[in-house]
Amino acid sequence: MLVDYHVHTALCGHAVGEMEDYIRVAAQKNLAELGFNDHAPAFHVRDPELTMAAHQLSEYVDQVRILQKRHHRPKIKLGIEADFVPGHEDELKQLLGQYDFDYIYGSVHIIGEWRFDDSRLYPNQYDERDVDEAYEQYFSLIRQSIRSGLFDVLGHMDLIKKFNYWPTGNIDHLLRKTVRTIAEADICVEVNTSGLRRPCAEIYPSEKILGLCHRYGVPVTLGSDAHGPEEVGLDFDKAAETLKRVGYTKVATFERRERKMMPL
Ligand code: ZN
Ligand code: FE
Ligand code: FE
Ligand code: ZN
Repeated sequence: MLVDYHVHTALCGHAVGEMEDYIRVAAQKNLAELGFNDHAPAFHVRDPELTMAAHQLSEYVDQVRILQKRHHRPKIKLGIEADFVPGHEDELKQLLGQYDFDYIYGSVHIIGEWRFDDSRLYPNQYDERDVDEAYEQYFSLIRQSIRSGLFDVLGHMDLIKKFNYWPTGNIDHLLRKTVRTIAEADICVEVNTSGLRRPCAEIYPSEKILGLCHRYGVPVTLGSDAHGPEEVGLDFDKAAETLKRVGYTKVATFERRERKMMPL
């Protein structure tokens, strides 16, 4: 059984298509559940091409809840992808606490002022930076986000590789430390197929990280990070193959922030 827990909507300003069309594609692909997971309003920046505005959050929640009543195959879930930015934890908790989300994703898209995952609106800084240091900083933010206790799912946990810049040395210690932190916090890791469509050309997180996750008993769920209906469930055959190869037999599903495991 497969679920796609990571699809966006036009409300974020950089995704396209009707929500009904996302659902139609999910139904065609026989997904058991489709989770809308749009970018939460951000505190550190107000950019209408990055996230919905704060006043649109209730509109988003209402729209998903309406669709949820209308569709039962796939089951519709209400998620939200929040940017983790240190210093804004309390605001975020307050904002998201107003609604009954099925799950909350934490994602790191920004290191300090550097929006490293978006070269469309923000200049690529990889060439000017020490890439090893960028990996250190990124995974340190990831560990902070895990320890914040705000999130159920860690989104695309090695997103820093997106533009195909890799650490010069071995970072196993960094990965092990991070996966240990995830296991201690008992949260879930997302297997995100959008990495296959990026310069790095691999799933987030890497098979190596997934192997570690499996060893530490970390549950996983699945997302396409679709920003258009045609991307729903994209490359899920590859994701399922990878998961099975690593040893996973179950995926996590969420309802009102309660986790339930389903056979893969
Ligand atoms: Zn997006
Ligand atoms: Fe993201
Ligand atoms: Fe996303
Ligand atoms: Zn994402």
